[in-house]
Amino acid sequence: SNNEKEELHRDPPYDSIVRFLTKLVRPLEGKVAIVTGGASGIGEDAVKTFVENGAFVVIADINDELGHHLATSIGLDKVSYHHCDVRDEKQVEQTVSFTLEKYGTLDIVFSNAGIAGPLSSILEFDLNEFDNTIAVNIRGAAATIKHAARVMVDRKIRGSIICTASVAGSVAGSAGHDYVTSKHGLVGLVRSTCGELGAYGIRVNSVSPYLVATPLVCRALKMEVSEVEANANDCGNLKGVTLKAKHIAEAALFLASDESAYISGHNLVVDGGFSVIDTSFP
Ligand code: NAD
Repeated sequence: SNNEKEELHRDPPYDSIVRFLTKLVRPLEGKVAIVTGGASGIGEDAVKTFVENGAFVVIADINDELGHHLATSIGLDKVSYHHCDVRDEKQVEQTVSFTLEKYGTLDIVFSNAGIAGPLSSILEFDLNEFDNTIAVNIRGAAATIKHAARVMVDRKIRGSIICTASVAGSVAGSAGHDYVTSKHGLVGLVRSTCGELGAYGIRVNSVSPYLVATPLVCRALKMEVSEVEANANDCGNLKGVTLKAKHIAEAALFLASDESAYISGHNLVVDGGFSVIDTSFP
C-alpha cells in the first residue's frame, strides 16, 4: 500500500546496512591498537593497514622522527605516536596508559619491535650484543604482552595480541645466533602466554616473516632494497612473488580481526613455504 511505502521511505534501514557493510569491509572498525616498532618497515605497513581497516593506532617506537612523521602523514585523528623503548617496562606501561587516555580502550597489540645483532661466529660472539637482542626481542615482547593483557583482563576485553617472530623462530642458518635464539624464544613466549590468557578470551599469536627488504635487513646485510629482494627471490621457495612488508601486515590484520576468532597460540608463517622445504634435496 501507499502507506507502507511511505513508512519504508521514512524509516530506511540504510544506516544499519551501511554500518554492517562497513564492518564487513573494514574488519577493525572502531578498534584500538598499539603497534610497537611501528615507525618503520613491517610495523609501518601494519599501522597503515590497521588504519585502512578502521582502527585507531598508537605507534610505539624509539625512532621519534619517523614515528611522528608517519602519524602526521596518515592523520592525527586516527594515529598517534608515543615514544616507547620496549626494553624499559615503565615506558611500555606508560604507552598503554597513553592509549587508554587517548582512545578509551585497547583491543589489539602488535608486538613487532625487534632488532638483529651482528652475523658473528659463536666462537667470537659478543655476549653484550646477545643481551641486547634478547632484551628487545623477548623481554620487550614480554613487557608488551604483560601490560596489554593486564588492561584487557581488568576491563574484560577479549583482545588480540600478535608478536612478530620470524622463520628464524623455526629454522636456523639464515640469521645470527642471538636473533635465531630470540625468535625461537618468542615463539615459546606466545605459546606459554596463550594458555593463561585464553582463560580471559584473549588470543596470542605470532607472524613469522621470511626475508623482507626493510631497513633492519638492509642494515644487517649491508645491501640495497633491490639486492635483498633479488636474493630473497633466488633463495625463496615461491617464485614470482616478492615478499613485502604489506604481506606481513595482512597476516597481522587477519590475526587482529574476528576472522581468526578461534586461533590462538599459532605461529602464522609467511614464507612461501621456505621453512618446510629441504632445498638440498634434488
Ligand atoms: P625495521 O628496523 O624497519 O623496524 C623495526 C622498528 O622497531 C624500527 O622502527 C625501530 O626503531 C623499532 N625498534 C627497535 N628497537 C626498539 C625498541 N627497543 N623499542 C621500540 N621500538 C624499537 O625492521 P623490520 O624488518 O620491520 O622488523 C620488524 C620485526 O619484524 C622485527 O621483530 C624483526 O625481527 C621481524 N622480522 C623481520 C624480517 C625481515 O626480513 N624484515 C623477517 C622476520 C622477522
